[in-house]
Amino acid sequence: MRFFKTVTALSIIVLLLFVTYEQVSASTNVGVVQSDAPLNVRDLPSEEGSIIGKLEPGNKIEYFNTSTDWVKITYAGQVGYVSKAFISGTISTEATSTAGHVESKTGVVASTGGLNVRSGPRQSESVLGQLANGTQIDYIDLGNDWAQITYNGAIGFIHTEYVQSMVTSPTVTPIVNKPTAKQGFKVVLDAGHGGYDSGAVANGLLEKHVVKAYKDELKRTLAADGIEVIETRTGDEFVSLSSRVNQANQAQADLFLSIHANSFADPNVRGFETHYYQSSKEASAINKEIRRLNSGYTRGIYQSNFQVLRDSNVPAVLIEVGYLTNADDAYRMQTNQHQQEVSEAVRRAVQQLK
Ligand SMILES: [Zn+2]
Repeated sequence: MRFFKTVTALSIIVLLLFVTYEQVSASTNVGVVQSDAPLNVRDLPSEEGSIIGKLEPGNKIEYFNTSTDWVKITYAGQVGYVSKAFISGTISTEATSTAGHVESKTGVVASTGGLNVRSGPRQSESVLGQLANGTQIDYIDLGNDWAQITYNGAIGFIHTEYVQSMVTSPTVTPIVNKPTAKQGFKVVLDAGHGGYDSGAVANGLLEKHVVKAYKDELKRTLAADGIEVIETRTGDEFVSLSSRVNQANQAQADLFLSIHANSFADPNVRGFETHYYQSSKEASAINKEIRRLNSGYTRGIYQSNFQVLRDSNVPAVLIEVGYLTNADDAYRMQTNQHQQEVSEAVRRAVQQLK
């Protein structure tokens, strides 16, 4: 009998282990680091753990809750832990994690009595303030009837029922005819995201920082070739999608190039993507040159209904320079070598388009 009791006890322990594991791994959350100083990332959920890195205040992170006072994150490709006390603004990413990264939209408040801004995506959360009817806002649709906004410099949440999206129906507007006598070639470089909008977050990388490095290298490379370069953002500021595309339209650019990095639930998915909406000529030229790179693992050309492509009156291309969720891509995207290779490929494509 003692033998059977031992077996039963062991089975219960094994069962409990599985149940605990399930609870830990069930949901991913997105939070923001809210500390006065850089926040330590440790290799164990304890102050005894070794410090493997630091997160800056304001960084947006994806994390798993644990039953301790620590949350689990992926940091530079390895498992790390940070103190739960310094993470706030939790949002469930169920709706967005499999659909790639989140893009912000522009909308107008459509509620005669004004619209409450809450501290969390629930009616029970405290009210931070109100937006008046007709207020224009940039927001990130969380896909669960709630949207995230910036309110007085902090993160706030509004119910999307009272927000009228300013995204127009996807009508294809003709590309403006350029005069035959051309003076030079003008490229608008658009580093995606910025400010509170980090874009995709994975392997310890924020999309907004990664794509800015590519934009900086592209600017150097194209400018050295006598190409006129205009940037939609030069630092880490938030710029709305409509403002980005307006800058390209107003400049009557010869090419609007939006730079992004991808993310996906399956970490094995990797590679470079080229997206267009109206004219595929420019995307084809870039894709062809990327394909010639040794390290240019290209997934090809896609016609995509992205706002920056759809609302552009000038030839527009959106490149996804790799997958932040893939360890090899994440490593490669941090190297200046890949930034230079991509910039050279785009330069050669521009030479053919001129
Ligand atoms: Zn992006």
